[in-house]
Amino acid sequence: MAPTVILLSLLTFIVVLVGGVTNSHSLKKSHNLNDTRTTSATGSARTGTYANISPTKVSRFSKTIKSTDATSRPLKPTEGSTKSLKTTTFKPKQTQATTRPLKPTEGSTKTLKTTTFKPKQTQATTRALKPTTVKPLKSKKPSTTLKPTLKWTEVSTKALKPTTVKPTVTATRTTTSPVRFHSEDLNENIDKNVERRVWHKKESEEPPLFECPPLGLESLKVKDSQIQASSYKRMGLGPHRGRLNIQSGVEDGDIYDGAWCAQYKDQNQWLQVDAKKLTRFTAVILQGRSSIWSWDYVETYKVQVSNDTIKWKPCMNGSEEAVFEGNKDTETSVLAILPKPAVAQYIRINPQTWFKNGTICLRAEIMGCELPDPNNIYPWQAEEGTKDKLDFRHHNYKEMRKLMKSVNEMCPDITRIYSIGKSYMGLKLYVMEISDNPGKHELGEPEFRYVAGMHGNEVLGRELLLNLMEYICQEYKQGNQRIVHLVKETRIHLLPSMNPDGYEMAYKKGSELAGWALGRYSYEGIDMNHNFADLNTVMWDAIELETDKSKLINHYFPIPEHYTSEEALVSPETRAVISWMQTIPFVLSANLHGGELVVTYPFDMTRDWAPKEHTPTPDDSFFRWLATVYASTNHVMSNPDRRPCHNEDFLRYNNIINGANWHTVPGSMNDFSYLHTNCFEVTVELSCDKFPHASELPIEWENNKESLLVYMEQVHRGIKGVVRDKDTEAGIADAIIKVDDIDHHIRSAFDGDFWRLLNPGDYDVTVTAEGYFPATRSCRVEYEHYPTICDFQLTKTPKQRLREILAKGGKIPKDLQLRLRQLRMRKLRVSTKLINRRRQSQQRRARGAHN
Ligand SMILES: [Zn+2]
Repeated sequence: MAPTVILLSLLTFIVVLVGGVTNSHSLKKSHNLNDTRTTSATGSARTGTYANISPTKVSRFSKTIKSTDATSRPLKPTEGSTKSLKTTTFKPKQTQATTRPLKPTEGSTKTLKTTTFKPKQTQATTRALKPTTVKPLKSKKPSTTLKPTLKWTEVSTKALKPTTVKPTVTATRTTTSPVRFHSEDLNENIDKNVERRVWHKKESEEPPLFECPPLGLESLKVKDSQIQASSYKRMGLGPHRGRLNIQSGVEDGDIYDGAWCAQYKDQNQWLQVDAKKLTRFTAVILQGRSSIWSWDYVETYKVQVSNDTIKWKPCMNGSEEAVFEGNKDTETSVLAILPKPAVAQYIRINPQTWFKNGTICLRAEIMGCELPDPNNIYPWQAEEGTKDKLDFRHHNYKEMRKLMKSVNEMCPDITRIYSIGKSYMGLKLYVMEISDNPGKHELGEPEFRYVAGMHGNEVLGRELLLNLMEYICQEYKQGNQRIVHLVKETRIHLLPSMNPDGYEMAYKKGSELAGWALGRYSYEGIDMNHNFADLNTVMWDAIELETDKSKLINHYFPIPEHYTSEEALVSPETRAVISWMQTIPFVLSANLHGGELVVTYPFDMTRDWAPKEHTPTPDDSFFRWLATVYASTNHVMSNPDRRPCHNEDFLRYNNIINGANWHTVPGSMNDFSYLHTNCFEVTVELSCDKFPHASELPIEWENNKESLLVYMEQVHRGIKGVVRDKDTEAGIADAIIKVDDIDHHIRSAFDGDFWRLLNPGDYDVTVTAEGYFPATRSCRVEYEHYPTICDFQLTKTPKQRLREILAKGGKIPKDLQLRLRQLRMRKLRVSTKLINRRRQSQQRRARGAHN
């Protein structure tokens, strides 16, 4: 969450543009300077010239595509058609082509020409081949490939046409794409150099340990009615606003201002907290006022405690009343430990001095331990929050590895750990995969992902995903039918920490003192949620400029050229995630954030640079459903009596909102996911507090457990099926699935399987694929929790047959859009590799200089 952050960065940006900024102002706002670093690659996307996929524009690439396409990856047996194989009988040659990637020279047209016109000669050369080269073909057809079909038909045979259940179908195909993400061995030590870079100072590794937890001013555990004040300027600056890290709205003067502010400027002002129970108060944390326009904070203060609010006892430092150091700016949280813990029910913060040009304003948290209630006959039966026995604490990188390893060891049959890449500092982006067949995409089985910690200081999502993997493993072993079903029918990927560098920064400060922005960005200062390629602009520009509407595309938008250059400011973490998104055919995802309580759905970006504006996707109704599923099952969001977190009341909208209608975000992960891949993604803002205290974790798990599970189950909504060649029954990859009246298509995966998320209703579904006649079926989506099976068999066009005969089994190029999309992805991977290599050698050199 970050409306103000964006606004601030916009503001700073404008200020820089105008150039008339005074030194005092920029000094005053120095805490915002970080935000200027968030200039993302997408900022320049506006100037991108790519408008649409017209043949002329692509043609200059076509040459490169032809040569690289055929040579850069292993071909699948089905890609060269069996038909042309039979007529030309070049079997051995074909074997060679399908079992391993060709070298650039091997695919050259020259060899093709010489061999294709002289069959006898070719046969002679094949004889010279060693028998071993033919072998791999056999091993490529394991009998186990039959399995998925059987399992899948069990799900809902009633919707299946009898003709579609042919056991031979999958036997003719390999059902997996090449596995790119190899399993990680977490027994391995962390690279010594990475270790030195991230944890160079041993003493700062662990956050400060407090004797007592926070009462919960920040987390809202302390209710508004428990906070009182001597006076307050107006409602928006009332005592209920005096909570650590509370965020003001854009304007001052509304009901959601960024602190408690006293009406008078004298030493008789106080903010009082009723702990409701006898409490051992140990410390106070103070912060100034959150505001873009005002500059107010308390410099020194006293503390008093009471049991009846009539008699007050001052906090002493020896024989004198203690005076505590407060703030020097508005944002930094400053901790004061009481010289001697004070036992009482009420505590008062009593400001003594404040910023001279400002007024008395503060945000606070109080640390204290509840004392046993003498009237309670079960004093030690405190509410624990949940019955689940999970590892409830904050896990830094090393602890996260340990936990993932233990889950993997506990459930080796259904889990696998892999890494999608490394952070700037070299920490691995670990993913826990959960499936009854880890490491493989199974035909018809949808892929789901949760991504957490894109903003490193929004840490609850990370812990919830660690809880979730532990929970699924435990429940699966105990035979919990819901979990067993989920694991068997879904391939789940959990990425708990997309920004591990940022997390470590926030973690070292700890849950109370990390503030609002530390650790949000990548090590380089990039905000990853603005860092994905801005495909919205590409799409909207095309709609505006293109006169021939039939040329417009509505899905699978290629990454713009400039985004793939080495100079583009794209973080290594973003690059890793993009590559991951394109490798695995994800269907559904959620992106877990913190600092608000709301679920947002795409688009996240407004169309004409409006700061906020409702900007729905063609799949708006399904996205609203998805957001509602999470929000309505989350215990805190769905509580009608809850108060708003900061400056917006999302309860009014049932806790869901269109992302762009909250605040525009160009280059968001959600929008990119929807426009570049088949995957639908929403953002979940999990809690008002970005970094809840460890003691809050059990209750937070309970608040989110059902939501996390039921949201995953939505991946089984709508329709799914396999698109196949009618003659060969081979699955057709990249077929386009169009649903009438929804201007957003999706594509089939490697094996021809597809998933189209849809709300209940009747749909006419048309499938097209390069070289095939289109086919249309009507498919009904029911209210039940399983998808309607909607298979397609496509007939090859005569033209395609002819092309294949002419190509003699060679690869027929894919459609232009797809080729461009693949080319750009390849370019991005190449530039990523170059950047990584350069950074590694830089870091090595820096180390050399250091030593
Ligand atoms: Zn966030």
